[in-house]
Amino acid sequence: MTAPHGINPNVPHSARVYDYWLGGKDNFEADRRVAEQVIEAVPGVRESARNNRAFLGRAVRHLTRLGVRQFLDLGTGIPSQGNTHEVAQAEAPESRVVYVDNDPIVMTHARALLTSTAEGRTAYIEADVRDPQSILEHPDVLATLDFTRPVAIMMVAILMHISDDDDPAGLVKAYAQALPKNGYLVVSHLTLDLVSEEMAGRYLKATRHQAMHRTPRTGEQITRYFEGFDLVEPGLVGVSEWQDAPLFPDPATWMYAGVGRKR
Ligand code: SAH
Repeated sequence: MTAPHGINPNVPHSARVYDYWLGGKDNFEADRRVAEQVIEAVPGVRESARNNRAFLGRAVRHLTRLGVRQFLDLGTGIPSQGNTHEVAQAEAPESRVVYVDNDPIVMTHARALLTSTAEGRTAYIEADVRDPQSILEHPDVLATLDFTRPVAIMMVAILMHISDDDDPAGLVKAYAQALPKNGYLVVSHLTLDLVSEEMAGRYLKATRHQAMHRTPRTGEQITRYFEGFDLVEPGLVGVSEWQDAPLFPDPATWMYAGVGRKR
């Protein structure tokens, strides 16, 4: 693809590397090079990315079947197959979704996120997840979502982009406070718990690039994000094990996933 205005195709970028792993076309040579380097260094990152995306779809479908009709999708990513509103509205056309991302590359694709059914609604806002107030009080969020009724907050492969200095647990708490009882929190997160020490070392070495920098966390740390929530079955598990057989057999598991229901 040709580079949209304001985007430098020569600097690898994490959202486009992820897009490449998912099999998308919205990436450049520099992104593909880094993506391939990481694949070569550590097995299973591409499958983990795809299983993460599959988890997003499964979680949304599961919640829609439980009656949830509203989703706040934090850290949307470049639109791919099975975006949140597509999955939700295929089950329940009246579903409403607000997408949030702080990356201009996602903005250039926002039109793909705004193809709502007539009965439902979608909105996209460019905002930083580290500033919950700017999102929870945003006019488009307030116009689209009713926080007195069940909302699912999606933090799928986003908290690993938030460093400890930015207090991810405090951020999750701020979003959780906006949820009514029986609202949901959906999380997936990079972890090194489920691979060998040697593999973990290789991963860290291969992802030192600015574009690939993420903060892996332990199952214990990730479980703490669900304080005030009951984890729905099967709990916090490897991303491909959440409620179904893996779509892409995992040579190694790099992500945890879980869904909690607010008490
Ligand atoms: N949730 C999607 C995409 C994950 S990729 C999925 O799981 O398939 C992570 C996305 O989070 C990227 O698009 C990146 O731009 C976005 N992101 C990272 N830090 C962010 C921040 N501080 N505020 C908003 N979005 C952020």
